Amino acid sequence: MRRISKTEYVALRKKGQSYMELPVHDENLQSEYDSTWENLSVFLHQSPEDIRDWQLNRLSYLVDYAFDNIPLYHKKYSEVGYKKGSIKTWADFYRLPYLRKEELIEGFPGEIVKDIDDFMLSTRSSGSSGKFVTIAVSQEAIYKDTLQTIRQFYMQSGGKYCADDTILFIYTCPWWVSQIKGKFVQDFLPTTTKVEDAIERIKATRPRYISTYPTYLEKIASTGVKLSDYGVELVIVHSEQSDKKQRKMLAKALNVEVLDEYSSEELTRIALECPNHHYHLEEDACFIEIIDKDGNKLPDGQLGIVVGTNLLNTATPIIRYIQGDLAKITTEENCECGNNGRIIEGVKGRNMDCVITDTGERIPASCFMDIAYNWFLVYDIPVHGLKYQFVQPEVGKLDLYIIEGEYSLQLDAIKETIYTLIPRTTQLNVYKVDKLPYDQGTKYRPVISLVGR
Ligand SMILES: [Zn+2]
Repeated sequence: MRRISKTEYVALRKKGQSYMELPVHDENLQSEYDSTWENLSVFLHQSPEDIRDWQLNRLSYLVDYAFDNIPLYHKKYSEVGYKKGSIKTWADFYRLPYLRKEELIEGFPGEIVKDIDDFMLSTRSSGSSGKFVTIAVSQEAIYKDTLQTIRQFYMQSGGKYCADDTILFIYTCPWWVSQIKGKFVQDFLPTTTKVEDAIERIKATRPRYISTYPTYLEKIASTGVKLSDYGVELVIVHSEQSDKKQRKMLAKALNVEVLDEYSSEELTRIALECPNHHYHLEEDACFIEIIDKDGNKLPDGQLGIVVGTNLLNTATPIIRYIQGDLAKITTEENCECGNNGRIIEGVKGRNMDCVITDTGERIPASCFMDIAYNWFLVYDIPVHGLKYQFVQPEVGKLDLYIIEGEYSLQLDAIKETIYTLIPRTTQLNVYKVDKLPYDQGTKYRPVISLVGR
């Protein structure tokens, strides 16, 4: 199998970034918006049966596409006797084998794309297993995802979001495109931004919407500001577990609405909390199933493991992928918001620890996950297949354990990146290991704090 060298891997991403800055995408997005918004905006208002029919049709196309073009799927589906065009019913789809993250990692690069150059547009996830995987993303998926961002804010704001509004993303890295013809502007700040600086930006630019981590929002709230004073109406939180009570308190403290988003790099938007506080599945972004630990499909109402199929991306198709979080689907309830996306409940798996510095500052796990993510994006350290875990044995000390992936690492370079987050006085050790200290079959956690245990 053809390998992809470190420099080639980094160069491809750079090429992809400049490619997406070309003005042609602005034109394309505008025409995609013009031709699809009317249907897209009401897609989830269709009857559940119509949504289901559309999904089966899309899944049938995706599976055939993957079988024809992606070596991993050709092999995997051939082994179970799959023939092109044979997904006609849901039972046909449910016969397909599940996809594990390991398969994507082992299949990199040549087995999980049609063409190695497809990695020009790619994304990385360390997700629920903590092991980095690189996935190629199609341009078409980026376009659709961009329009679904518009729909997300339209839906979660109760129809208030409009083309002249700005959304401030305080996040790991900016989205591929930052506006469409000067409208639907997405402003960006990295999560490594000092909270005072973020507040200054909010004061100066007055975004109507903010999207960030709940722990970052807590830091904003701890300064005592009322975001409503600066024109903010709604904050969307994501990536980490936050419960209803916590969001309610934040909403009260900041005098804005706070709603949740459940998403992952592999599956994009999974479910969004509507103004009535139900999590509706984004049925045209991904198709979600719930299974038990033996792989049996569970009926609605039972708690199990989330399995998802990405309905947008064909560059590295993600089909019946074991996401690993726990949740259940309820179809009993009808929501007054008019969204007929199935309702998902009890999502678990995003609980995180904090690291405490010797000055008493609490740095949330998401910041460390961001740094790990940025090893590649900012510091050009290739991470595919790499797995890591931060362990804080006591205040003032931090240990990082790394299992090398596809590429060999320079630990000093990694160490420097972590010092952008913690004080230099912290005693930081980085170890290359074969096995992470806390990874015994239970859900992987990227940051473990032993302080006070
Ligand atoms: Zn609803």
